[in-house]
Amino acid sequence: MGVHGDRAALLQPLLGGDRRALARALTLVESREAGFRELLRGIAPHLGRAHRVGVTGAPGVGKSSLVAVLVTKARAKGMTVAVLAVDPTSPFTGGALLGDRVRMTDHVGDDGVFVRSMASRGALGGLSTATGDALDVLDAGGFDLILTETVGAGQVDVEIAHESETTLVLFAPGAGDAIQAMKRGLMEVADLWVVNKADDASAEKVRGDLVGSLSLHDPPDDLEERVLLTSAKDGTGVDGLLGMLCARRAALESSGAREDLARGRIRRRLAAAACDLVAERLLGASADSLIDAVLTGDRSVHDAVEDILRMDDGDTT
Ligand code: GDP
Repeated sequence: MGVHGDRAALLQPLLGGDRRALARALTLVESREAGFRELLRGIAPHLGRAHRVGVTGAPGVGKSSLVAVLVTKARAKGMTVAVLAVDPTSPFTGGALLGDRVRMTDHVGDDGVFVRSMASRGALGGLSTATGDALDVLDAGGFDLILTETVGAGQVDVEIAHESETTLVLFAPGAGDAIQAMKRGLMEVADLWVVNKADDASAEKVRGDLVGSLSLHDPPDDLEERVLLTSAKDGTGVDGLLGMLCARRAALESSGAREDLARGRIRRRLAAAACDLVAERLLGASADSLIDAVLTGDRSVHDAVEDILRMDDGDTT
């Protein structure tokens, strides 16, 4: 069987829940190697099962710890869970750093849990395209819940929020977390605000301050309910958080908001994928003549872009 045959053969096992096929499919999508478009075309009719949840917050607030507890609680309810750890800091290590920190050793050998780390910037393509594609692959793998964890370092978190149906922003007792998140625009993209380390004596006060500052900016009616206290250490509040995630998914579905979110996501992904395509074609040799044409005034930049979009690079598989 040739290379392309191998890749085509990934689709059925992936859809059937084979975790090795899933891992290989993610590698293919991440590498953008030949065949990834074909795979994505194959999974396209099989999307929409998973609730896509983004988890972000400053380093040290307890994201990895809380995700690990959430996974255990979700498994206890019979839900299957994938965790995608997106690491914006180390494009060269393939995101191994953050992945290593996800404490999932309890779930080794359990096909209902899958953990993967991913560098936020690959060799080709931006964050939105590769991460969005990876989330689709995980969705096609049949998980009920996909938790995407980012390290809370800025723009990446906001982009992940846009790829998510529900975004959790975590805080913890400690210096300036709330204010930093506010600056980064994360407060606006959050759906649930979680004060972790509830076992710490000052957690209640942090929650109170957070409710106070959120109240100033067009808060949702149910703000009080949406600002949660959890402890990854002793498990306080994590059942409540999981319950809210499940309820929110059901509410998004029944109100039609889930489809609106999907439409918004697709719109962003179309724009990002178009940028990637143009950038990719600009790297090709035929771009030189276009650059010459703009340089000599034969074409405007905008005409040249139209020309690039009309190019056929032959790689449509
Ligand atoms: P991340 O950087 O946000 O992923 O945070 P980690 O999950 O790595 O946790 C950072 C530190 O906080 C670790 O030492 C954890 O053991 C600790 N930690 C995490 N959750 C809690 C919690 O609920 N209570 C307490 N007391 N410590 C916690």
